[in-house]
Amino acid sequence: MSAPASLGNAGPRSALLLALLVEATDKASQGIVVCDEDGTVLLRNAPARELVNARDGDLLADKAIEAALGRALTGSYHEETLDLYSPTRHTLEIRAFPLGGEGQPMGAVALVEDVSELRRLEAVRRDFVANLSHELKTPLGALSLLAETLDGEEDPDVVARLTARVGAEATRFSRIVDDLLDLSRIEAGGTGTLAPVALSAVLDEAVDGFYDQATSRGITLQVSPLSRGLWVTGNRRDLVSALANLVDNAIKYSEPGAAVAVGGERRANRACLWVRDQGIGIPRRDQERIFERFYRVDRARSRSTGGTGLGLAIVRHVAAYHGGDVTVESVEGEGSVFTLRIPATDQELPHG
Ligand code: ADP
Repeated sequence: MSAPASLGNAGPRSALLLALLVEATDKASQGIVVCDEDGTVLLRNAPARELVNARDGDLLADKAIEAALGRALTGSYHEETLDLYSPTRHTLEIRAFPLGGEGQPMGAVALVEDVSELRRLEAVRRDFVANLSHELKTPLGALSLLAETLDGEEDPDVVARLTARVGAEATRFSRIVDDLLDLSRIEAGGTGTLAPVALSAVLDEAVDGFYDQATSRGITLQVSPLSRGLWVTGNRRDLVSALANLVDNAIKYSEPGAAVAVGGERRANRACLWVRDQGIGIPRRDQERIFERFYRVDRARSRSTGGTGLGLAIVRHVAAYHGGDVTVESVEGEGSVFTLRIPATDQELPHG
């Protein structure tokens, strides 16, 4: 157990100490409410005062704090979680302690914390683990089924077909793991130091591997060369991987005969890279959610094209740690434009 707080050498300066302590509580992020043995509130710090500012839900919060203090005054620790739905949904955690001796307390303190964000993150993590288990179980299930079917199979044609499927499922599995590793590295803030990067080089490198893939799917890849003066401060490898993900999607979600255009320019103080397709488009209700890990509009289509559901999550994180963002404009059945916007480096570097 930690030692009780000490007043040090306050002596005659105790009035000053008291004033400073009261002010110090205003700097805490938690709400702090102290009452005497009758339950009369002696101190309410700034975050606690904000709570009581008479919005509907907060009146409930105030009542709960009062009740918690009442319980603590009977000599026992009290803890409760309060879900409020007005004015916005949020969750408060209230902990109340008796003060001045547990047998016959001379007062009580309630500590109030808004744990909404914490709870949201816990829920996101739970969902992620559940989704991840599901995503990994699918290729694993397929692999074990294929192994069973292969066992004892003698027809060489069937064996060749099943073996090819084993290879495809194994590739799928390792692609998910690779994307997860990339995502966790990028979520942790990327790797390496940020350095000046010419976006024209990012664009060239990102589209390079896609000409064959586009041609084999009957899609025309149109790349507009970028001004060599367009620079950002960033991680070249991650920027290439983000743009490549967008180009890959544009090709995957287009039908043969369509065109995919890639280009970029400076808009105000930002450097923009865009990928425009004439593909299947994205329904409005899904447009925000497609950046979530494993969210897909059409699960079957994503699977059949070898998608992992992690590409856009990677793009969003790359944009975010460069101080930028990624936006989408899309009309179902007509196509989509994804734009990666990164703060542009002001001075144009001579060796552009
Ligand atoms: P996936 O591996 O499934 O492609 P992404 O994270 O890259 O995962 O994309 C998430 C989902 O967003 C896709 O499953 C698809 O439904 C949708 N999507 C992404 N890009 C496009 C696009 N250019 N056109 C239509 N839908 C797209």
